[in-house]
Amino acid sequence: MGSIYNQIIDLETHWQGFNKKPFSKNDLIELAERNNIVVLKDHSVENACVFHYDGKKVVLYNPHQPDIDFTLSLGHELGHIGLGHVHPHSSPLHANFFSNSSIEKDAGIIGFLFWAPSSDLHQMDIVGRLNLEEIYNNCKDYRYGDIDGSDIEKICKARLRIYNALKRIKN
Ligand SMILES: [Zn+2]
Repeated sequence: MGSIYNQIIDLETHWQGFNKKPFSKNDLIELAERNNIVVLKDHSVENACVFHYDGKKVVLYNPHQPDIDFTLSLGHELGHIGLGHVHPHSSPLHANFFSNSSIEKDAGIIGFLFWAPSSDLHQMDIVGRLNLEEIYNNCKDYRYGDIDGSDIEKICKARLRIYNALKRIKN
C-alpha cells in the first residue's frame, strides 16, 4: 500500500467528514479552527499559503477567488499540515494545484478530496457511471462559483486521475 493512501485513511479518522462529504468554504475554515490552525484573509497571496509562526500553523487565503478554487487551495494547505509538511523552520508553501513535486502533488490530492470525496466517485464507479460529465454534474451546484469551462474540465480530469490512482494503490 502506498503511503498517501494510508495517510488519507488516517486523516478520515482525524478530520470528521473528510473524504466522505464535500467541504464548503465554511466547513474548511471550521475544520482548521478546530485543529488550532490560524486562518487569515490576505489579498497579497495568489490562492493560499501555509507556514509556521510563533508555535502555530497559519494559513493565509485570498478571499477573492471562486468557491472551487477556495476549496482546492485551502484544502491543499490543510493537506500540507495533515501530511506533516509544515515545520517551524520550513519556508511557506503556496498552493499550486498542478505542480509535479511530490509534496505538492500529495497536498493537492487532499484538496481535491475535500472538493469531491472518494465516496461520491465510488458511488458513480459501482453503477458504471464514473466519467467527467458525472463528476461535473455531481459537483457543479455550489462548488464552481464563476470559474470558466476549461478549468472545470481540467479539475474534473485531475479528480478522476486521483480516484484511479488511489484505487490502484488500494487494490
Ligand atoms: Zn502546496
